[in-house]
Amino acid sequence: MSKMISENRVPFIILKEGTRRTYGREAQLNNIRVAKIIAEAMKTSLGPRGMDKMLVDRLGNVIVTNDGATIMKLINAKHPVAKILVEAALSQDAEVGDGTTSVVVLLGELLAKAEELIRKDVHPVTIIDGYKKAISKAIEVLDKISVPVSLSDKNILKKVAKTAMAAKLVSHEADYLAEIAVNSVMEIAENDGKTWNVDLDNIKIEKKVGSYIGDSFIVKGVVLDKEVAHPDMPRSITHATIALLDGAFEIRKAELNAKLYLENAQQYKQFLEEREEVIQGMVNKLAEIGVNVLFCRMRIDEKAEHFMARKGIMAVKRVKRSDLEKIAKATGARIVGRPEEISKEDLGKAKLVEERRIGGEDKLIFIEGCENPKAISVLIRGATKEVTDEVERSLIDALSAVKNIFIENKIIAGGGAPEMEIALALRDYARSLSGKEQLAVEKFADALESIPAQLAESCGLDPIEAVVTLRAMHSRGEVWAGVDVSNGKLVHDMYSINVLEPLVVKKHVLKTAVEGAIMILKIDDIVIASSVAEREDLEAEKKEE
Ligand code: ADP
Ligand code: MG
Repeated sequence: MSKMISENRVPFIILKEGTRRTYGREAQLNNIRVAKIIAEAMKTSLGPRGMDKMLVDRLGNVIVTNDGATIMKLINAKHPVAKILVEAALSQDAEVGDGTTSVVVLLGELLAKAEELIRKDVHPVTIIDGYKKAISKAIEVLDKISVPVSLSDKNILKKVAKTAMAAKLVSHEADYLAEIAVNSVMEIAENDGKTWNVDLDNIKIEKKVGSYIGDSFIVKGVVLDKEVAHPDMPRSITHATIALLDGAFEIRKAELNAKLYLENAQQYKQFLEEREEVIQGMVNKLAEIGVNVLFCRMRIDEKAEHFMARKGIMAVKRVKRSDLEKIAKATGARIVGRPEEISKEDLGKAKLVEERRIGGEDKLIFIEGCENPKAISVLIRGATKEVTDEVERSLIDALSAVKNIFIENKIIAGGGAPEMEIALALRDYARSLSGKEQLAVEKFADALESIPAQLAESCGLDPIEAVVTLRAMHSRGEVWAGVDVSNGKLVHDMYSINVLEPLVVKKHVLKTAVEGAIMILKIDDIVIASSVAEREDLEAEKKEE
């Protein structure tokens, strides 16, 4: 496909036969329609009383969730505009770990408002300029109303962690988990003199069904839901020297196959003896270089287990690759592919590796006093798998919320208060602008108000009435007036009811949503390759039949 400039400088494109093309206003309105459909579907999941979506993934697994990132990941988006929305949500999740639903809702709303202007013949470029001005103003307002917090103020950090956690957990459990989240982040946060670095990968989350949520705890090291491989092996090793094997501890198949053509019993016996010698040699070599703990991703030869037990080596098999990586990071060990390749340089250190029982029968492996003191684990307990899964999701949200405060130690209140406050400032600002840009900035303000409107709707309030009332409250100077979703009413001060969030998340939501909206508004020409167009036509025909 080539693009040329004709004499009157209008670009024209030579297309292959069968290519489908829509352009101009039709393309824009089409794109906006797609974005609106997705945003509309996501809308009802917003906030602590958000509804769940039931999704079925490609393997037929049913997933029930109201987590924006999860939903967007599972939407099998084919349309290019839908893909832009998915990308926006996922980048929001990757960067700050929260705010994905808000991004999609706001993005859709910004486009819906743009559509109203396009229908009144405002050019998209003018809308884009207006939106760009509005976003700088919005960030300015956010910075102004945000409140600095001290990183040693655990109480405030806990409130932020609690707001981030799904409201599904009952209150005292949320309190306990918020405490765990705050302590965990404090444990791993590093300061280089100027900025904080919080690497959440240093926190390993392990779930063990049984007991109840309040029995969850932090382990200063790594915990694995595994047992020692053989009953004769030691259960506890102090001054552990650790090897990590990303495979099986056995003689390689290739070596065995060569010897498999055996003619009589004598030869078979000899074969077994030789085999045993090789295995014993492999174990001896481990012991010689000082290994007393082995974590292995696959199986361990039975004979090898026996020899290891004799040498006082503790071994754990079927350890997940991701867990091996965590142990590597914690102990300084290097993961090795084959047993015979393990050398002294690959070994890691920990003060103690121990198999312990927690609450009755459950055995777990604890690796403590690691070379890297920043490596910790959280062991989650709960009555069923559904509970521990839900706790894990909530904990991850809480951890990123606390981390975000370390990145920029400023908070704002939630419940739609900041959106209302920005909208108020934008309407004022719009008056200083020229005609059509003014309209765009006002539309931006309208779009922001869709957040409090949706929160109001989620708890049974009339959304239009709520927005009108909140507007009046904000124009009276009540900066934190918002929707108290848990109690289904409007309040004068979201801050005083402890719905507190990191400033970083909201800033990121606004920026990501605007960028996405602008990207979509800029498209006025959609060219779909003939192969794709044909396939889509075929699918459409099939559906009609
Ligand atoms: P997102 O994926 O955008 O984070 P959430 O479902 O987490 O979506 O909802 C976030 C919105 O819910 C934010 O606007 C936040 O201020 C608001 N919110 C969270 N907790 C409360 C609460 N207890 N009362 C009112 N609003 C809340
Ligand atoms: Mg959230």
